[in-house]
Amino acid sequence: MNNLRQEVCHPSFIELDSLQLIKNIEIIKNIIFPTKFCFPVKANGYGHGLFEMAKIATEAKVDYLAVAHAKEALFLREKGIKGDILVLGAVLEEQILPLIEEGCEFSVSSPYKAQLIKKQLENSSLKAVVHLEVDTGMQRTGMRPETALSLFNELLDNDSIEVKGIYSHLAMAQQPEDPFTKRQIEAFTLLADHLKSLSPSILCHLANSAGLLYFSKSHFSMVRAGFLTLGYFPSHQPEKFLEIKPCFSLKSKISFLKWVEEGKGISYGHAYITNKKTKIATVPVGYGDGYRTEYGKRGEVLIKGKKVPIVGVICMDQLMCDVTDLDVEIGDEAVLIGKQGDQEILINEMAKRADISPYEVLASFTQRLERKVL
Ligand SMILES: *Cc1c(COP(=O)(O)O)cnc(C)c1O
Repeated sequence: MNNLRQEVCHPSFIELDSLQLIKNIEIIKNIIFPTKFCFPVKANGYGHGLFEMAKIATEAKVDYLAVAHAKEALFLREKGIKGDILVLGAVLEEQILPLIEEGCEFSVSSPYKAQLIKKQLENSSLKAVVHLEVDTGMQRTGMRPETALSLFNELLDNDSIEVKGIYSHLAMAQQPEDPFTKRQIEAFTLLADHLKSLSPSILCHLANSAGLLYFSKSHFSMVRAGFLTLGYFPSHQPEKFLEIKPCFSLKSKISFLKWVEEGKGISYGHAYITNKKTKIATVPVGYGDGYRTEYGKRGEVLIKGKKVPIVGVICMDQLMCDVTDLDVEIGDEAVLIGKQGDQEILINEMAKRADISPYEVLASFTQRLERKVL
C-alpha cells in the first residue's frame, strides 16, 4: 500500500467549453434579433474567468460586455479587449477619467453623478458616454423615471456627457408567474417610448436572462443576459432554448488513496465514521477553491463514470470520497461538476445542497483554480 502514498501536483481546474459558449451566444443572438446582445461578465465571469469569457464573447461578436466595477472594465482593456464595455455599478469620482480614456461606458444613477462627471471634465475636451439607470421596482440603484427624464433633457445639449442608453433591472422575472415583472415592463415602456421620441437612436435595455427567456416584451433594443449565456436557466427551459447548455466543468485527479478499517473517523471532527473497511480517495479540491463545505452533504464526485459519495467534512484544500467499489489509481480523473461518461453533476444539485442560488455556486469559485479553455 505504500506505493499508493504518493502526492501528485495540484491538478484541479475549471474547464471551459468555448464551442458550447459560442453556440449559446449564437442561439441567443438569432432568437432576439434585431435586439442587441449584451453579455455581463462581472464577478470573474460568474466564476468562469473574466478575461476568458470576454475573449470568447468578443470572437462570437456580442454587441456589448457588461461588468459591475470600473476595475473589471479596465482589466479587460489592459488585456486587449476592444469592444463596447458598460460598467453597471457605481463609478467613483477618480475612476471617471480612466474609464473615459479607455473608451468604457458607465452608468449614471443620479443627477449627482452627472454633476461629478461634469466637474471631472470641466477643462477637458473628453466626453463621457453614459447609460442612465432607472429604478422601476428593484429598489437597489437608479433614478425614478421622472428624474431620469428631466436629467435626460438637461443633458441633451451637454458637451461633456452623451446619454447613449437608458436601462433598468428586473427584480422578479426569475419567477415568471409573478405579476410584478409586467408592471416593471409597463413603467419602462412609458419612459422608453418618450425618450425614443426625443432621441430615436437611444439604447433601451431592461431584460436579464429571465426577462429574455420569459418576457418577450422586456427585450427593447438590448438584453443583458449572463446566466443564460453560460448555459443556465433561472426557471423552466423553453423549447427554443433546448440546445443551450453549460460550458463549465470542475475537474481534478485523485491525489491519494488508502484503505481505512471499519470504525475510523474521516476528516476534521470525525463527523463520518466508516461502517466497513473502506477505500478512501482524496481529491485536492476544497472550500479554498470555492467548493463549499455544504456541498459535502449527500455530495458526490464522478470517478470512473460512477457517482461516489463524499465522506467527512470538506477541508480547505482537499476532500475525501468512498471508492471502495471502484478499481482506481492515483491520478484518475475526478469530476466535481460536469460530465464523465454518461453521468453528470449539475450546478443546480449543488445549489440545493447548500441552499444557495446557482449564481452563487458559480461566482464562489476562486482564482486558485486555473481556467482552461477548450
Ligand atoms: C447581473 C446583471 C444582469 C445579468 O443577470 P442574469 O440573470 O445573469 O442574466 C443584468 N443586469 C444587471 C444590472 C445585472 O446586475
